[in-house]
Amino acid sequence: IPGSSNTLQAYAKDKLSSQMVELFEACQQQTPDLVRKEMCRTRLQEDIQNIFPVARLYLTGSSMNGLGCRTSDADLCLVVVGIMNQQPDPIYILSSLQPMFTTSFELEMMVNMALFFLLLSFSGLEFDLNINNTVGIRNTFLLRSYAYADLRVRPIILVVKKWARHHDINDASKGTLSSYTLVLMVLHYLQTLKEPVIPSLQKDYPECFSPLMEIDMVPEGPRHIPPYNSRNQSSLGDLLLGFLKYYATVFRWDKQVISVREARALPKTTSREWRDKFICVEEPFERNNVARAVHEKIKFDAIKAQFVTSSGILQQRKDLNSILPVRATI
Ligand code: ATP
Ligand code: MG
Repeated sequence: IPGSSNTLQAYAKDKLSSQMVELFEACQQQTPDLVRKEMCRTRLQEDIQNIFPVARLYLTGSSMNGLGCRTSDADLCLVVVGIMNQQPDPIYILSSLQPMFTTSFELEMMVNMALFFLLLSFSGLEFDLNINNTVGIRNTFLLRSYAYADLRVRPIILVVKKWARHHDINDASKGTLSSYTLVLMVLHYLQTLKEPVIPSLQKDYPECFSPLMEIDMVPEGPRHIPPYNSRNQSSLGDLLLGFLKYYATVFRWDKQVISVREARALPKTTSREWRDKFICVEEPFERNNVARAVHEKIKFDAIKAQFVTSSGILQQRKDLNSILPVRATI
């Protein structure tokens, strides 16, 4: 019966599922964590506005998308629009901000591919600040809408992130999977089940996720999306088992591109974005490959092997501790 289970407990009657709920409840970001990040964001925005009066600072990533842990960093997007809507050079912005950071913060400046970002630590929190990369604001609110489309989405994603981190396959800077890639991989699995747990929200609510929406409106856009009434009543544990098995045995890494935008796997074409890439996961707005950090065969093999090994062990033991030490993770 669609929508018959309106508490998480209804999906957690077996041991594996209740271990997942326990981990989720212990590790998920708490309201005071978000309040602290929001206070820092406000302070930082005020300081930046002394230099760029039109600048706005947005909290993005797992702090805002409902998929955060107590230990997650805070991702920030600084939006500075120049004369005639031209975006000022990020180097110019960074150098203008530098005096402020060197007096108030520990500043580390790093260049990542074509994107400039700052790593800041402020009030004991880690901040990852990028400049004018506004797609991060759009996809944060898309992910947030998926996170709340079904009660099971948040716990499964949190467990998968913890599992991937425990097995050293969740670090894009070391050639493995970014958290963002992992989240899209879980959403894809939930969208492509015979009875999907979630739909394509971009297809069902195009007006809420228009790439042309004014950036200021983006956080408000998806406010009124109702929860999805899925016929799929699988337990959390069965969905975790299914997720591992899907990437261990069903998904064709060499032939398929994950598209959360379309809620299906697309055939891999020879376009530059997908050619010679080990893992292809489409960014839902920009349509480039979010998994391009996985560029070494040895890392790709390690990722695939981890799906195969964990899937086998969990299938047999049905105990979360067999693939992730629950107590130590909490
Ligand atoms: P964690 O809790 O581990 O910090 P996270 O959800 O914050 O996870 P990250 O991988 O740190 O995930 O990414 C933070 C945010 O940056 C994402 O939610 C997304 O908005 C944006 N982002 C990351 N990678 C990309 C990308 N390749 N293209 C576009 N946006 C990205
Ligand atoms: Mg983050």
